[in-house]
Amino acid sequence: MPSTYDVINPANESIVETVNLLGLEETDAVIAKAAKAFESWKNVAPGERARLLRAFSQVVTDHREELAQLEITNSGHTRGNALWEADNVANTLMYYAAAPERLFGRQIPVPGGIDVTFKEPLGVVGVIVPWNFPMPIAGWGFAPALAAGNTVVLKPAEYTPLTAIRLGELALKAGIPEGVFNVLPGKGSIVGNRFVTHPLVRKVVFTGSTTVGKQIMVGCADQVKRVTLELGGKSSNIIFADADVAKAAAGAPGAVFDNAGQDCCARSRILVQKSAFDTFMEHFEVAVKKFRVEDPNLATADMGPLISKKQFDVVESFLDEPVAFKGSAPSGPGYWMPPTVLLPKNTQARSWREEIFGPVAVIVTVESDEEAIRLANDTEYGLISYIYSGSLDRA
Ligand code: NAD
Repeated sequence: MPSTYDVINPANESIVETVNLLGLEETDAVIAKAAKAFESWKNVAPGERARLLRAFSQVVTDHREELAQLEITNSGHTRGNALWEADNVANTLMYYAAAPERLFGRQIPVPGGIDVTFKEPLGVVGVIVPWNFPMPIAGWGFAPALAAGNTVVLKPAEYTPLTAIRLGELALKAGIPEGVFNVLPGKGSIVGNRFVTHPLVRKVVFTGSTTVGKQIMVGCADQVKRVTLELGGKSSNIIFADADVAKAAAGAPGAVFDNAGQDCCARSRILVQKSAFDTFMEHFEVAVKKFRVEDPNLATADMGPLISKKQFDVVESFLDEPVAFKGSAPSGPGYWMPPTVLLPKNTQARSWREEIFGPVAVIVTVESDEEAIRLANDTEYGLISYIYSGSLDRA
């Protein structure tokens, strides 16, 4: 049964566009088309495939303003971020345009001769994208898959389909043959799940929540299907007392509030050595209050709204702990939340342990280097970390 989704501008809650969501039969038809296109795409000479990817990259660059504007309107990303994200797609395509001509196998000496190995494409690759960085995360999936000679079916997140749909059109404009790169707006439970269950999809690339990622891994195991998962995070920003504490405090808001904290790499745990705590907090408060939360179309915006009412409610549920201070945010329609700094009672607090995916930083003090490392690593996630120290040896 056909269904639709009203794309909402999270900065003002207006309807931007109504998108058709694919059902099961339509999804199967696109997968079949991608499988057919694979028969010729895999035989496109490496140099020609490279040329097509360079052309795709150039077309994305030619449309960077348009793509950025779509992302600002669809996702509430700041103008600076949205332009970077469009450029990131172009750059990723250009980077992988160098790959087709470098997909070397190996020659392995064996008794009586040599073994020769080849890198061969798999077939149709399914890419499932979350809503927080719709363009870059799509590109990191489809660019290498296309470069290796696979065809791609890509499912954007329900909230944020617009840039992916446009990238699908731009691929055709660049000369990528029909059926090679296909964008399928739809529900995770229908289109995304079909990538997992359809035997012609030979690999699934998923970025999103740990809960859904685990289900996908289980589903792929059933067909011994290859799978790449990029899941959640709860990353740390460690500030030792011998650091330039003012500088560390000035950098801390961007590290956690960029993209309204909807970033798997958000450094949302801040660990400050006790003797530097007062100085850090003094500077950090100034920096948080200066962080501009405003219309993401403005070139001065540091942060826009959250993606949805649902996400707003999830983030708000973490705010029942002691607040150190808050920044500001617009009032009125839109999913606006000020950057907020919490001082949890202990490291068992939900805000310290769980991925918040919103503009919330959580601060604890530590006495020693060992305690900092222990607390930072005390998480089921692993993505990134920052360390500020005046001593490279110590860091
Ligand atoms: P999500 O897991 O709910 O959804 C991600 C995508 O999976 C969406 O396109 C969704 O439609 C689809 N999906 C949902 N259920 C599915 C199913 N049963 N089968 C197949 N596909 C399904 O996550 P989200 O809310 O969109 O994104 C936020 C999460 O993504 C956060 O946890 C964040 O940490 C994570 N994330 C990780 C990275 C990384 O690189 N590690 C990057 C960005 C986001």
